Amino acid sequence: MTVLNDLVAALADGSVRVVDLTAPLHAGTPILTLPEPFGQTVPFQLQEISRYDDRGPAWYWNNISTGEHTGTHFDAPIHWVTGRTGPDVSQVPARRLIAPAVVIDHAAEAAADPDFLLEVEHVKAWEAEHGSLLAGGWLLYRTGWDAYGDDAEAYANGGRTPGISAECARWLAEEAPIQGVGVETVGTDAGGAPGFDPPFPCHSYLLGHDKYGLTQLRNLAQLPPTGAVVLAGPLPIVTGSGSPCRVLALVEG
Ligand code: MN
Repeated sequence: MTVLNDLVAALADGSVRVVDLTAPLHAGTPILTLPEPFGQTVPFQLQEISRYDDRGPAWYWNNISTGEHTGTHFDAPIHWVTGRTGPDVSQVPARRLIAPAVVIDHAAEAAADPDFLLEVEHVKAWEAEHGSLLAGGWLLYRTGWDAYGDDAEAYANGGRTPGISAECARWLAEEAPIQGVGVETVGTDAGGAPGFDPPFPCHSYLLGHDKYGLTQLRNLAQLPPTGAVVLAGPLPIVTGSGSPCRVLALVEG
């Protein structure tokens, strides 16, 4: 297994770096709020069981409560009605949790216009410069929105957050070879996506085509446009629609 030995050596000497793309998970982690009358997810919470005290003199542990779609998390196909016959989060093949990733960076545009939408022409322009999107890979979409991740109000921005147009979402689902899209915002869809046709097009098209979503990613600025490998680790919640997820990237050089 020379490849794995080489990888371990490269990690040890720093020629391969590990970039953590995961937001810290705590009670203040931003969560999606839906308009009435829809059901709501709950904030992440810790409930202390014991902490070196009479409830457990030598040990500290907590119960946790969380929505599946809280913080950095993974959207499984079954999350959306278009993917309802698809895999739940426990059924996503482990093989697909390690995949190459490319990064398309529109942080400057999103800073100038929080309603900025990625279009097919942007992706094709990226491909003309960097090569084709990778089969079975992630398209990671940088908007700079991770900078607001510790301020729930700024992060939500009154519902105005950048995303992907309906036509681009359809194209990524139906015509691009990728296995999914990763974003820095609270969900894969733009803040204005409830009013798109179809509503929430990233969810609708991608999950309906057995593709995945990764959200609330951080540190995409530390990744090269091509060459990173992403390890995404959702919990295998049986029948679950998604899961909080540790997402790491391996980067050469
Ligand atoms: Mn989600």
